[in-house]
Amino acid sequence: MKTLKGKLSFVYLTLVIFIAIVGVTSFYNLYILSKSIDGLITDNYKSINATFRMFEAIERQDNAILTYISGDSQKAIDMFTQNNELFLKWYNIENNNVTEQGEQSIVLNIKSNYLEYTKLFSTLQEIRVTQGEDKALSYYNKTIVPQFTKVKEALFSLSSINEDAMFNSKDRATKNAEKSTYIIIAVTLFAIIGGFALSRQFTARFLKPVTDLTETMKELKSGSRTIRAEVQSKDEIGILASELNNLIGTLQQYEQSTLGRILNEKNRTMAIVKSISDPLIVLDTNFRMVLINNACEKFFGIKEERATNRHFLEELRNGELFDFISTGGFNRENVDNSKGSEPHSREKIISITVNNEEWHFNTIVTAVYGDNGIPIGIIVLMQNVTQLKNLEKVRTDFIATISHELKTPLTSIVMGTDMMLNENIGTINIEQQDVLYAIKEDSDRLSTLVNDLLELTKIESEKAIYKFENCHIEKIIDSSAKQFIQQSQRKEISLIIECENHLPLIRADQEKITWVINNLVSNALKYTNAGDEIRISASVLNNKMKVTVKDTGAGIPEEYIDKIFNKFVQVKDGDIEVRGTGLGLSVVKDIILAHGGTIKCESTLDVGSSFSFMLDLY
Ligand code: ADP
Repeated sequence: MKTLKGKLSFVYLTLVIFIAIVGVTSFYNLYILSKSIDGLITDNYKSINATFRMFEAIERQDNAILTYISGDSQKAIDMFTQNNELFLKWYNIENNNVTEQGEQSIVLNIKSNYLEYTKLFSTLQEIRVTQGEDKALSYYNKTIVPQFTKVKEALFSLSSINEDAMFNSKDRATKNAEKSTYIIIAVTLFAIIGGFALSRQFTARFLKPVTDLTETMKELKSGSRTIRAEVQSKDEIGILASELNNLIGTLQQYEQSTLGRILNEKNRTMAIVKSISDPLIVLDTNFRMVLINNACEKFFGIKEERATNRHFLEELRNGELFDFISTGGFNRENVDNSKGSEPHSREKIISITVNNEEWHFNTIVTAVYGDNGIPIGIIVLMQNVTQLKNLEKVRTDFIATISHELKTPLTSIVMGTDMMLNENIGTINIEQQDVLYAIKEDSDRLSTLVNDLLELTKIESEKAIYKFENCHIEKIIDSSAKQFIQQSQRKEISLIIECENHLPLIRADQEKITWVINNLVSNALKYTNAGDEIRISASVLNNKMKVTVKDTGAGIPEEYIDKIFNKFVQVKDGDIEVRGTGLGLSVVKDIILAHGGTIKCESTLDVGSSFSFMLDLY
């Protein structure tokens, strides 16, 4: 009874025993019943039948006596003898089948009277022979008939005693049947009630631990981790309960460790976020403050407790900052471009004045998306670049001053050298001429550098003033190309202009764009050799003006292509001679960006380079 199987088997066994009791009882009662009916048919019926046969035999013997008296003696004697045998045969059968009380004495009585009867027939035979038919008849009437009646009466008694017994047997059988019915009903009822009560009792007992387990699981589901299932037995359910307890323990440990880890992680992340030295703001999709770090609190003089859940503008009244955060924030395009949950960042230098002091922040706005691509928030990190900006300004001012200071003496050197070379101030010999050419070449290089530096510092210090107007790009290209015709012819390089017909106007600073094209063509000339070609083209692409300066010159090594627009970057390759300042392309890029355009370089070493920029149409 330790296992559930054993318990269930016990209940089934008990039910089987009940069924067996009902079966055995029914069988026993039916047996008794059949037995009593059987006795009724076999014993009493046999006796009645024998009695009836004896009746018939003695009746026929009586007829034989009368026949004998009337004269047919031999036939009568034969008939008498035959029936005598028959009588005795049935008598013997009856004698062996005495079943009822008093039956034996009747049987003996029959026998003695019958024997007397047969003897009387012998006497009658003598009287018939000796005294005649009348005397014989008289003897028959007086002596034989009474004896015959006696035998018949005895036979009657025998018949009735057996008939009575038969009726009694029938009554008994009926009573037995009734009794059996009651007994079977009683036992069946007992078996049904007992079986039902037993199975109810045991089922309830066996199912209780299962119900308890279900309750425990419900509690577990609702979040309780302290609940434990009661181990009530050592059977399968008991094992299940203890296994469930183990599982709850493991779950609790797991949750504690996971929760702890998550909390630790969160605290650590919070600590990192809080300790970032630059202001950091986390906003929800409605631009409500979710989190601000210590640097942000300090810089803007706000408190996180107060700021949380408030709109950005309620706390920080900075329109430029908010415009940058909110524009291009969450829109379908960004979500699609963000490849699901990848963040989408933009950055811009924003200047903020606090207490009459100007601060510069490289503001990085990152839109954060959930796994399903739905926006969940915005992170605003404001890198303080004020010091860098100031240093940059100092540097730019310094370079501007130096360049400016260098420009005047350089102009005098170039002019003086030119005058001497033109022999305006006297003749010079060949050696002097060579020296002067060398001085002129270096002075030219130096003045290009100074000019580039001045241009760059002007652009970087945002002092560069752009005069945007509507201009024809083909005119700019033509005027720029004109300046290089002689130079290209000297170098035997073909300079080709390819402008689409009826090009639309562009909105640009004509002087600056001329400077850009000049620079690109001048570079192309520097890095091409005799027989190469330079192609300047202009066409409309995607509603923008695309201008390309393409050459078949030395090309740029792949690793340089990405950084070629950075300041002072020059290709240092054994074969390629360095001939410039490394500033030209940097200025070019700044000018194009100031126009809101884009520029890119495509180049293959020893095949040629192509520089193209895009500008807005008018
Ligand atoms: P630089 O005054 O040295 O020409 P740039 O900024 O104009 O300065 O160019 C930077 C470097 O890019 C050059 O030194 C040169 O190595 C490379 N470069 C520019 N244009 C070309 C070109 N058309 N073909 C090959 N190299 C080029």
